Amino acid sequence: MHMPSLFISHGAPTLALEKNNPTADFLRGIAANLPRPKAIVVASAHWETDSPMVNGAGKPRTIHDFRGFPKELYQIYYDAPGDPKLAAMVKKLLDDAGLQAGIDPGRGFDHGVWSPLMLIYPNADIPIVEISVQPERDARWHYQIGTALAPLRQEGILIIGTGNLTHNLRETMTGNHAKAPTWVTEFSEWIAAKVAEGDIESLVEWQKLAPHAIENHPTPEHFLPFFVSLGAAGKPLKAKRLHNEVAQGVLAMDAYEFG
Ligand code: ZN
Repeated sequence: MHMPSLFISHGAPTLALEKNNPTADFLRGIAANLPRPKAIVVASAHWETDSPMVNGAGKPRTIHDFRGFPKELYQIYYDAPGDPKLAAMVKKLLDDAGLQAGIDPGRGFDHGVWSPLMLIYPNADIPIVEISVQPERDARWHYQIGTALAPLRQEGILIIGTGNLTHNLRETMTGNHAKAPTWVTEFSEWIAAKVAEGDIESLVEWQKLAPHAIENHPTPEHFLPFFVSLGAAGKPLKAKRLHNEVAQGVLAMDAYEFG
């Protein structure tokens, strides 16, 4: 069984509670179109480290890594198992690629993992191994992480990057964006065009080449998981833009399937 890789925009932590929300509804329906994975490797924007880390916990706890949200959000526990054997395999693949990974046996699942995953696989019965992103490293580095993990796709393992296609949180606070501004749509459409062309070289140079890169990502951590998914797809790139919506005025919620 050959699994695709996915990039998912996870939006606000409240996504998991949303009813009649285009992105939440999209995520609730996505599993029906995928082969059932044996396990999932997830690169999350909400685990930032200097060098690659792999969640080696057998029963990862749920981390409520946010403040000031509704009480019911703190009562959510997503009890999907970990997979220490797969974590060791992920570490070996990264080490063999020269990316020197470590294992964290005490790490839990941050909301970058559980918020979208509880919509996609609500039964929490598929093992998950989370990996971190390195904000001090560039897109090419994260692309290489994906490339190193690509062989797992043949083993029936789904690779997911979870972040946001655009992520300027300061602009969501101002609330002045009833309609998505052009600096958001020009960025997301540039990405869509380069993906459609299979132009990986331009994509990994997004900070130099994409329009309004810095406005959309004042810090890069929410876009780096995209490159893990992209790297796992291999070449030539086969891709589908599965979903797009702009939430809170400026958060492009695009999802892609690669491979
Ligand atoms: Zn986030």
